[in-house]
Amino acid sequence: MKHLSSFIFAAIIFLSLSAQEISWTTPFEASMGLQTATYAEVIEYSKRIAETSPQVTYEVIGISAGGYEIPILIINKTGLSAPADVRASGDVVMLIEGGIHPGEAEGIDAILMLMRDIVITKEYESLLNNVTFIFLPVFNVDGLNRFGPYNRINQNGPEEMGWRANSQNLNLNRDFLKADTPEMHAWLKMFSTWLPDFFIDCHTTDGADYQYVLTYAMEVFGTMDPMLTRWQKREFLPYVQGKMDISNHLMFPYVSFRRWHDPQSGLRSGPAPPRLSQGYTAIQNRPGLLIETHMLKPHKDRTEATYALLVYSAEFLNRNPEKLKLILKVADETTANAAFRDRPYPIRWTRDDSDSVMVEFKGVEYDIIESDLTGGKWFQYHPEKPVTFELPWFNRSVPSVLVDLPEAYIIPQQWYEVIYRLALHGVEINYLLEDTDIWVEQYRFSDPKWGRGPYEGRFTMNNIEYEAFRDTVSFLKGSAIVDMNQRTAMVIANILEPKAPDSYVYWGFFSAIFEQKEYSETYVMEELAREMIEADPELQAEFEKKKEEDPDFSKSQWGMLNWFYAKTPYWDEKKNLYPVGKILERQDVDGLYFE
Ligand SMILES: [Zn+2]
Repeated sequence: MKHLSSFIFAAIIFLSLSAQEISWTTPFEASMGLQTATYAEVIEYSKRIAETSPQVTYEVIGISAGGYEIPILIINKTGLSAPADVRASGDVVMLIEGGIHPGEAEGIDAILMLMRDIVITKEYESLLNNVTFIFLPVFNVDGLNRFGPYNRINQNGPEEMGWRANSQNLNLNRDFLKADTPEMHAWLKMFSTWLPDFFIDCHTTDGADYQYVLTYAMEVFGTMDPMLTRWQKREFLPYVQGKMDISNHLMFPYVSFRRWHDPQSGLRSGPAPPRLSQGYTAIQNRPGLLIETHMLKPHKDRTEATYALLVYSAEFLNRNPEKLKLILKVADETTANAAFRDRPYPIRWTRDDSDSVMVEFKGVEYDIIESDLTGGKWFQYHPEKPVTFELPWFNRSVPSVLVDLPEAYIIPQQWYEVIYRLALHGVEINYLLEDTDIWVEQYRFSDPKWGRGPYEGRFTMNNIEYEAFRDTVSFLKGSAIVDMNQRTAMVIANILEPKAPDSYVYWGFFSAIFEQKEYSETYVMEELAREMIEADPELQAEFEKKKEEDPDFSKSQWGMLNWFYAKTPYWDEKKNLYPVGKILERQDVDGLYFE
């Protein structure tokens, strides 16, 4: 009896295995939407699609920090897979990314189904008419391998899922500009090789409860080229919004609330900094669509809505591919053009809280309760009681920091971590052939301050103030010259202008310049300070004034003597000096790197 039952059991396993082998049912579908695919399942399914269809090319773009392959699938109607060939064919290139936060699993499951429905069932084969797809089913493969039921405390399924960060505990969706992870290095190489015309990143949001199953964000706040902004706002979004309405997937712009958790306090939207995916593609002149499904809706509904929006987006790109490609071409040329550098460039934006529009927002009723456990406010939502609120939506942003763009930046070669990353971003770099004196603008920082704890593994600089001055500076052979007459000019400015929200000064790439490396001995400085006062009586008055204004200073012998030290010729002139120079005159750049 025992033998018979184990035989039957083995037969059942065998049958179900072989059924799965020939089936194109995804793990999501097989579980009726309760489960998501594991890394092994994503890889197996993706490879099988590529082996079955001549239209699909499976490529590994890199290896994660934890040692796992990150594949993309290139899908083209005639099986083209080289970027130059695809460009020449006239297709729009659409990059669709899942699993940057693998716990937010809809993108992974929707991508597997959509790839199949394009090339295997051919239900959506027509999407290949004018579009070549690059599917990145899961970007954060390490995160997906940390698979378990307890990774997303607020979220309604799937039963098990991946983890938000990679195996270094870094969030890839803060890493687009600083590029610390091997995953991002791989992504940036792929992105600058392909330069996709349109990008979609699939997520799940946290926050208050409301009726919408899906929210989205695009950079339509004036930070992008005006024609590109108009195309997103007036053409792309109305099309997909209409399609989502008809197919009954409730969709609304991605908003936060003026008071966290409290929709009736008013809605807010604004531009994304380039540490985030859609903020990053924006400074590359490429539209990015951020999908944020709502975590309290079932995984099945979220995935179906994501799938629908991917299909409608691809449908729209198929309708008029030439128009988008032309707008992108003009935007790239505009960014590289001298006129772009004539105007002050808004490197930082802020929301304009004085201006809002009234909108209808499909929320749910909720109570705000005084918690007897914590004393805080506790929001109890009632999804069974839908209600439409008339709410103010603050969706206007204005520039808060403007900078003058140079003709080129020059970076001494010892800052190779920065230079290397610029190259990863697709920036063209030339190198100084001999030591040269160049007229540049430089910045000297004052009052630097840093965050108290690590953020994304770095100590960020939170007070960035400087004085700009101009001087002739000797730059050594091998210094990197980053000419601004290229399409990546906004990427360059966002990396090198210290006040940009994700500048490399902010992220700490230059933190060593703020360290004092030589110190005076007390017995030397006590004597020297007296000699200095004797030689310059006004110094005594300045010293007394400083003591009066700054009580901490007046209590610190070291601080006071260091103050005198800073006024001697022994003081390090390079301390607090930004080593990056801004070359202001075109003729100075043109002579620099021609052999
Ligand atoms: Zn996310």
